[in-house]
Amino acid sequence: MSRDRVHCVDCREPIPSDAQICPHCETVQPSPLLDVGVVVAGVFAFVFGVILALMTLGTTRMLGLGLIVVGFGLAVGGYTRYVDRQAGRRGR
Ligand SMILES: [Zn+2]
Repeated sequence: MSRDRVHCVDCREPIPSDAQICPHCETVQPSPLLDVGVVVAGVFAFVFGVILALMTLGTTRMLGLGLIVVGFGLAVGGYTRYVDRQAGRRGR
């Protein structure tokens, strides 16, 4: 299959790749670009958090540790969603 088929994130029905909203269940479809943006933002927050945690002390260090947690969550969450979409596209 050469055509890029996209499936709804909710009901898994095939939808046009440029569709913003599923024609079957009207779920708003996240764009792959958004997932990449989330991962990039997460990685940036993670790196920035590590720098803050290593280079500073006190409140700023706590802020850095918080950024590490948030950044890690964003990166892993975005990546998992991306992989999930790829798998849904290839399989079935
Ligand atoms: Zn749907």
